[in-house]
Amino acid sequence: MIYITGDTHNTIDMSNVSGKRIKFCCKKMQADYKAISTVIILGDFGLPWYNCPIDENGIHPTAPTEKYLLKWFKNKPFTIFAVMGNHDNYDMIEKLPEVEMLGNKVLKVCDNVFYLKRGEVYQIEGKRFLILGGAMSDDKAYRIPHVSWWKQEEMNKTEKNRCIEKIKQDGSSFDYVLSHTGTTKGIASFGTSEINDSTVTFNNNIESMISYKKWFFGHWHTDWEFDNYENSKFIPLYHAGIIL
Ligand SMILES: [Zn+2]
Ligand SMILES: [Zn+2]
Repeated sequence: MIYITGDTHNTIDMSNVSGKRIKFCCKKMQADYKAISTVIILGDFGLPWYNCPIDENGIHPTAPTEKYLLKWFKNKPFTIFAVMGNHDNYDMIEKLPEVEMLGNKVLKVCDNVFYLKRGEVYQIEGKRFLILGGAMSDDKAYRIPHVSWWKQEEMNKTEKNRCIEKIKQDGSSFDYVLSHTGTTKGIASFGTSEINDSTVTFNNNIESMISYKKWFFGHWHTDWEFDNYENSKFIPLYHAGIIL
């Protein structure tokens, strides 16, 4: 089974992936915790945040907090996949080794932690996922390029075109869509009006091209309780989770 949750921001919100949090959701959704084999984080995973050596085995953090965090993730009894957000170190992500998985390629952080590539299609536990990702940081004026802000946070033209081509070629029907920021409609569902973000515009275009059951997104640090799940196609998640 798959557990989907929101931004973890390196160590800040790592408890989104704690056994306690996931077990709480399992209880609500009447699922068995031991059956959770995949956990997905909807962007702003933030590991690695600091530069560190990378080889074919993944990252080798030097910062004590990141050494600790990596060990914590490695001890989890499931595989973790992260969508790319805006508070993610893209300079490091670009150096991660690519490995074959889920019928496509993923980027390896360590043996059980991987980034899903933007604009790609993956088969996860028998379900077809479209993975988007990225967003514009509205606080980028206060951030330092290559230290706390990366211009690659928004999908570039090549990635966007590739994604559109892939949908046209391989089929536009998906079980689930995962993105970091949402679509205009998705964001409006919790009462926020759209900000000027090219990624939201791109997500809107994609939405008009595809069919899907549910669209999960993070970024807005907004949770919808499980009660809203049945009534909406757009599901914003932060600390809460959903089991598929
Ligand atoms: Zn974000
Ligand atoms: Zn965030």
